[in-house]
Amino acid sequence: RVSATSSPSSSGEIIENVVIIGSGPAGYTAAIYAARANLKPVVFEGYQMGGVPGGQLMTTTEVENFPGFPDGITGPDLMERMRKQAERWGAELYPEDVEYLSVKTAPFTVQSSERKVKCHSIIYATGATAKRLRLPREEEFWSRGISACAICDGASPLFKGQVLAVVGGGDTATEEALYLTKYARHVHLLVRRDQLRASKAMQDRVINNPNITVHYNTETVDVLSNTKGQMSGILLRRLDTGEETELEAKGLFYGIGHSPNSQLLEGQVELDSSGYVLVREGTSNTSVEGVFAAGDVQDHEWRQAVTAAGSGCIAALSAERYLTSNN
Ligand code: FAD
Repeated sequence: RVSATSSPSSSGEIIENVVIIGSGPAGYTAAIYAARANLKPVVFEGYQMGGVPGGQLMTTTEVENFPGFPDGITGPDLMERMRKQAERWGAELYPEDVEYLSVKTAPFTVQSSERKVKCHSIIYATGATAKRLRLPREEEFWSRGISACAICDGASPLFKGQVLAVVGGGDTATEEALYLTKYARHVHLLVRRDQLRASKAMQDRVINNPNITVHYNTETVDVLSNTKGQMSGILLRRLDTGEETELEAKGLFYGIGHSPNSQLLEGQVELDSSGYVLVREGTSNTSVEGVFAAGDVQDHEWRQAVTAAGSGCIAALSAERYLTSNN
C-alpha cells in the first residue's frame, strides 16, 4: 500500500494510503512526514474557522516558544510555513470540513461536502477548542487581554508585571494561576462555587500562595477598558449577594477547560469521559487499527504547538509502518 500512487480496489475505486484530518501543527506535521514517505497524503484542512486553515494558532499574534524562531513568529506566519512545507512535498490539501467518517470497516470512508474518499489509514488531528465564557466584550479583547493559555501568553509584555485574573476552580485554572505568579504582580482566581474543584494538592498550593487571592461565589460579568481602549479591569458579581464590583486587572485567563473536536469518532473509536481520543501510551494508536490521533484532540495535558507537531510526526511514521506491515 505504500506507494506514490493510491491503490485501486477490486471494484476499480481509488483507495488513498492516508487521510489527514486537521490543519493545525499536528495535521501539517503529519502531512510533511507522510508526503516525504511517499504516501501522497490527502489532507482535509477544515473550514470551521471561516475557511482559514491553520488551526488555533491562527487566532494568536506572537508565538514565542516554538523552537527555531528566536525572535518569535506570528501564529499565522508559522502555520503558513507549515502549510507550504506540506504542499512542497506533495500533500494534497482540501480546505473542507470532514462531515462524516466511518472506520467500522476497512477501507475507511471520509466524506466532506465536496468529496468522498476511501483510505487505508487515517490521522485524526482536529484539535480542541478552549471553552469560552461568552462575555459581551470577549471578541474585542481576545488576545488583547483575554487568553486561554497561560503557558503561551503569561510571559508576554502585555501581561508581565501586571495584575492578572484566572477564571475557573478546577485543576486547569489553579495550574494557570500558579504558573502566572512567575510573571504577574498578583493573580486573582475567580471561582463561581464556594470552593475549589481542583485536587487537594493544587488547592493547598493556591491557598498558601500569598500572590494569589481566591474570590469564591464570584461570577465574571465582563471586561472593562480605559480611555485608550486597553483592558483595565473586570466586572464581577457576587453570586450570594448580587453585589457588583470592579477588579483592577490587565489580563483575564480562561481556565474552564477545552472541548476536543472528536465528534466524528464518537461510537467508533474509544474516547475518554471528556471526549479526548484515547491513544495507547507513548503512541498515536487509537482503539482501531489504522486510525491514529495526534495533537490536542488526544492531549488534555500539554496542549502546545510543539507537542502537537511531535505527535503528528509519530502518527505519520506509525501510519507508514502500519501500511508497510499490511502491504
Ligand atoms: P489545532 O491547532 O486546533 O488544529 C485543528 C485543525 O483541525 C483546525 O485546522 C480545524 O479547522 C481542523 N478541524 C477540526 N474539525 C475538522 C473537521 N471536521 N474536518 C476537517 N478539519 C477539521 N501553543 C504554543 O505552543 N505556543 C503558543 O504561543 C500558543 N499560543 C496559543 C494562543 C491561542 C490564542 C490558542 C487558542 C492556543 C495557543 N497555543 C499555543 C496552543 C496551540 O495552538 C495548540 O496546542 C495547537 O494548535 C494544537 O494543534 P493541533 O494540530 O492539535 O490542533
